[in-house]
Amino acid sequence: MIVCSIVKLVVQVKLLPTPEQAAALEATLHAVNTAADLVSAVAFDQRCFRNYDLREHTYDRIKAECGLAAQAAQHVIKKVADAYRTFHANLRAGNLGAPGAKRRTRAESRPITFRPDAAQPYDDRCLSWQMQARTVSIWTTCGRLKNVAFTGSPEQLKTLAARRKGESDLVARDGGWYLYATCEVPDVPVTEPEGFLGVDLGIANIATTGDGTRHSGKGLNAVRHRNRELRRRLQAKRTKSARRLLKKRRRREARFAADTNHTIAKQIVTEAERTGQGIALEDLQGIRDRVRLRKPQRVTLHSWSFHQLGSFIAYKARRAGIALIHVDPAYTSQQCSACGHTERANRPDQETFLCTSCGFAEHADVNAARNIAARGVAGWAVSHAA
Ligand SMILES: [Zn+2]
Repeated sequence: MIVCSIVKLVVQVKLLPTPEQAAALEATLHAVNTAADLVSAVAFDQRCFRNYDLREHTYDRIKAECGLAAQAAQHVIKKVADAYRTFHANLRAGNLGAPGAKRRTRAESRPITFRPDAAQPYDDRCLSWQMQARTVSIWTTCGRLKNVAFTGSPEQLKTLAARRKGESDLVARDGGWYLYATCEVPDVPVTEPEGFLGVDLGIANIATTGDGTRHSGKGLNAVRHRNRELRRRLQAKRTKSARRLLKKRRRREARFAADTNHTIAKQIVTEAERTGQGIALEDLQGIRDRVRLRKPQRVTLHSWSFHQLGSFIAYKARRAGIALIHVDPAYTSQQCSACGHTERANRPDQETFLCTSCGFAEHADVNAARNIAARGVAGWAVSHAA
């Protein structure tokens, strides 16, 4: 029997509003969040936290006072009710400390507040999508905005066109405008793998697979190096404009890293799909010990980037029904993938693997990837023995 379940996922598209449209969106977020603060104060004063009850107390008022349309007013009230539900659940779970704790008492003593640009949910009545024209029509406090352009990757747009369902959130972030749209996609059953494609993560080569493909980190490392130099120079200056430039560079670097990771993840998943293999990844718990770097900051950066690549691969593999397994990476760089002999001397330098026992020679990263693949096969057999 095949059970086809549904996975909800969020597709993010960037809006490209004109300056006038952007001003209307900004005014709208401010209005709905002012309304949310108002509703929250009423909820707090009257100890009334349920969506339906709150509506009775606040609906007419926020429509009139904040200029909200009916749907927007309902979404604001629900947003407040949801926030209090989360808050109370956190209280019960003791996440804000025991009763009487300072932090907890402070949180309990005043209503929840909302940032002026906190995200706002939209349903199909206040937001419609024109996929062909790549525009949306969206309700604002300045009237309905038509022809607001948006952009996304081909993959995102395809999912959006075929699978969008339910609400979307309007989000202001880093000076840009985004819609986070909920999509429902069928969960693809995992195909029984014929062997595993092992993936070794590193600095010189971001990812190396057991078939010998090396995804070079050259471009990314060059960008990081340039930015590090720039950072050193600018940090000495301590001016406002220097800080701004640094922030901009950091964001650009993060975007470049994410693009690189997406590309690598796609190539790896495509290769596994073509050959019917599963994918074996290193369990990243031990990455800090394995990547020996002098500066702790660099370790953080790289381990963050590895986690991102891992999550991109996991996401794409899941969508394609490809088996994915995480293995213990201990000694994968010192172990011979031909005979199993493990010794530090097997690794005369960074790039070379040369087995002192059987004479097997290979690029060090490729050898490690093959060990990861073998552990993947073993791990899969154990976890699917039944
Ligand atoms: Zn050997």
